[in-house]
Amino acid sequence: MSRTVAFVGLGHMGGPMAANLVKTGHRVLGHDLVPAAVETAARAGVEPAASASAAVAQADAVITMLPSGRHVLALYDDILAAARPGTLFVDCSTIDVADARTAHERARAAGMRALDAPVSGGVVGAEAASLTFMAGGGRTEFAEAHPLLEAMAKKVVHCGGAGAGQAAKICNNMILGVSMIAVSEAFVLGESLGLSHQALFEVASTASGQCWALSANCPVPGPVPTSPANRDYRPGFAASLMAKDLGLAASAARAGGVHAELGLRAAELYAEYAERGGGTEDFSGIVRTIRNESGDRA
Ligand code: NAD
Repeated sequence: MSRTVAFVGLGHMGGPMAANLVKTGHRVLGHDLVPAAVETAARAGVEPAASASAAVAQADAVITMLPSGRHVLALYDDILAAARPGTLFVDCSTIDVADARTAHERARAAGMRALDAPVSGGVVGAEAASLTFMAGGGRTEFAEAHPLLEAMAKKVVHCGGAGAGQAAKICNNMILGVSMIAVSEAFVLGESLGLSHQALFEVASTASGQCWALSANCPVPGPVPTSPANRDYRPGFAASLMAKDLGLAASAARAGGVHAELGLRAAELYAEYAERGGGTEDFSGIVRTIRNESGDRA
């Protein structure tokens, strides 16, 4: 069934996601603060709206894809009053679990319905409609959003109540950040022991060291020709986004009193890496920092 969707935040992710909704027959009214983002989306069939509120006023569902919780909550405060009662608000941004729950509460208090539905899969997945969505909210809201999310996805998972989608996202990315550092340290240790990258890869990728950071996104050039290491660490998944997601995981761990020693350390290491200029590189580029620092001590 074709729906009218207001899509706010037409950046790297939101632009191609909105374009995929248009491709599957939905009417999409788009808004972004950056005119160039609106123009690009308009070329893909998104109808530019005069403002976010103007888009929301005509919509059956509202999708947001914004940088952070601060942006989402400020926007909700602006636009909730403009929506028709019962409109479904789906936030696909990666934000703090507490902010996501606040967004649900504010939507409910305004007579609306809400779902948090962050994504994994990056810009490539957004363009190819092969994202994984992890959703938090009620069953009815999930069922209603499902056809829209499916138009942009290879997989859509209902993770639980309000905030559960964001929780799944930061837990997954904590595994990823920690495992990328572990894999990178192992390659640098292997180098110091005279072990070739290929030999370590052949063993670990078919043994108990196997993980996505090794077998799909291998941080050294050679063993996996498609990994960012073979193109001078062009992302892929930018280290600044990994630093952001680990920061969200670290603050949730601290708030919950969770003893996540490696997760907290990974958050520090990626924050330092991003601050020192690695933010726009793929997150696997952290192997070079580990190698350089090992060299400094040698
Ligand atoms: P982006 O900066 O390219 O896009 C965000 C867009 O939101 C910008 O175009 C900005 O102008 C717009 N915006 C901000 N405030 C607005 C407002 N009040 N009204 C209208 N537009 C507004 O970021 P992105 O890479 O598209 O990421 C979006 C979200 O998706 C982030 O939360 C990010 O963590 C998450 N995410 C990104 C990736 C990725 O690979 N880029 C992967 C998974 C998740």
